[in-house]
Amino acid sequence: MHELSIAHSLVEIAEEAAAKAGVTRVTAVHLRLGVLSGVVRDALLFGFDVAAAGTRLEGARLEIEDVPLQAYCAQCGAVVVLPNPQRFRCPQCDAPCGRIVTGQEIELTALEYEENAPEVTAS
Ligand SMILES: [Zn+2]
Repeated sequence: MHELSIAHSLVEIAEEAAAKAGVTRVTAVHLRLGVLSGVVRDALLFGFDVAAAGTRLEGARLEIEDVPLQAYCAQCGAVVVLPNPQRFRCPQCDAPCGRIVTGQEIELTALEYEENAPEVTAS
């Protein structure tokens, strides 16, 4: 399963970052997911729960931000959003645009940690 291996590497990266930050529990992981990444969202969510079990990420939420497909149109000289990932043509001028700018990413952007409980000082 493709998504499970992606989930495992996400958990690995997040674990490493959490360990470096001295965090014992991660509450949420933010991910940017391009429409062309080929990742099935539900499968990834499921895979994430499986991969996170027994790690600092156990029970953490996976927050997925969808990234639209954007390409550079040489005709318009601009980056345009392509509404249909099957059709690589500029929606403004219909010229073919082959240079993808966004839409392929699988990118971990942020982690949310549980704040360490403040130390109780005797008064
Ligand atoms: Zn164009």
